[in-house]
Amino acid sequence: MSSHPNCDAFVDKLLTWYDDNGRHHLPWRKNDASPFEVLVAELMLQQTSVEQVQEVFEEFVEKFPNPDSVVAVSEEEISEEIEPLGLQKRTKYFRKASHRIIEQHGGHVPDERSELLDLHGAGEYTAASVLAHAHGKDAVAVDTNVARVLSRVFGLDAADDPNAAENWDLAERSSPTGRCSDYLHALIDFGSTVCTASNPKCSDCPVADLCDYAE
Ligand code: SF4
Repeated sequence: MSSHPNCDAFVDKLLTWYDDNGRHHLPWRKNDASPFEVLVAELMLQQTSVEQVQEVFEEFVEKFPNPDSVVAVSEEEISEEIEPLGLQKRTKYFRKASHRIIEQHGGHVPDERSELLDLHGAGEYTAASVLAHAHGKDAVAVDTNVARVLSRVFGLDAADDPNAAENWDLAERSSPTGRCSDYLHALIDFGSTVCTASNPKCSDCPVADLCDYAE
């Protein structure tokens, strides 16, 4: 845990907020979501809203529950399913990543960062998210929402830059051992609904008393 004086209190309050207000209903967050479903969700969520992904996710994983089912059909069939999401390059990601998972990992989504980074379409954020959400590992991932929340609360200079080292460093140091998955989901949900890019709801914010931005 970070040595920042407000860090423990921030994490506690955020997780309490998440328990009551988080988007626990999202299908890829269910306890029985498979690692492959988590990977599919993370690839779909790249540059795409949660609402858009919700429209296609369940039907997609019902038709294609594992890498074998993805490589068994034509590229066109995959493309048709994810067409509403845009970014058609994802069709190739799904197929190439599925091939690699079958050929190099016996059909199982790997649980090592380097192996996940080796899958098509998976960068640092996706790899860390799959480690935390699919394999329960203590891994952190910083996207624009997470960077914005951390930068505001702790007065970092990096603002909402998801690539800034200080945001990743703070995310790492503040992550609660054993609850990284919840922490990441909490940061994302909080950044989407309370600490929004414009007009953050500071007057109704559960961590306002700890927040550098609100002072
Ligand atoms: S007080 Fe405002 S800026 Fe700070 S975390 Fe809450 S919503 Fe974000």
